[in-house]
Amino acid sequence: MKRPDALTLWERLYLPQIVGGLVVVIYRFWRNFILHILHVVGIARSVRAAVTVQYPDEHKRYPDNFRGSHRLTLKEDGSVRCTSCFLCATACPAHCIFIEAGEHPDPSVEKFPLRYEIDTLRCIYCGMCVEACPCDAIRMDTYVHPKIWGYKRADFIETKEVLIHRSKVLGERGRDALMQDLLKDYKELEEGKVPFQRS
Ligand code: SF4
Ligand code: SF4
Repeated sequence: MKRPDALTLWERLYLPQIVGGLVVVIYRFWRNFILHILHVVGIARSVRAAVTVQYPDEHKRYPDNFRGSHRLTLKEDGSVRCTSCFLCATACPAHCIFIEAGEHPDPSVEKFPLRYEIDTLRCIYCGMCVEACPCDAIRMDTYVHPKIWGYKRADFIETKEVLIHRSKVLGERGRDALMQDLLKDYKELEEGKVPFQRS
């Protein structure tokens, strides 16, 4: 017995779908191709040549609840808030946080991180470290995604200095500053202004 949802012979040929798909692709190709040429000579620049975001020249603004790269927050005196309690490293399911605790010169502060590193090749950006921290010392509200270029594992390790630097940039230049810096780095690499080190 024939199934009620079985395709007819005409439907199984898929001809209307194939022709329809080709019409869309060919129309889009020529429309965008001609518009790009017109834009180069300064004509019809108000008409978009493509609906996709032209990353990295353009980028979408990340939403306020975007869970981005990490940062270590700072106290009012500029020192790091982290007390090296290891709770974030213990909670991390990817085991990608490495902390070396040191004695703080100030006797009222028990410990501070001599070394605090996140291996972004292992991190799954789950946010467990942020949840686990009892003193709001680590956050993922940088509105910047992880760096995605590098040839050595070390290129993907975010050090204490990097994590602190993010907090400073965020505080001084606002929420879009880190993304602007990242895109500038991409651009300079693409244009060959900064040599890509293979070692
Ligand atoms: S976001 Fe998740 S995987 Fe990444 S460091 Fe924090 S706890 Fe570990
Ligand atoms: S970031 Fe928070 S949870 Fe992690 S070691 Fe520092 S104080 Fe503890």
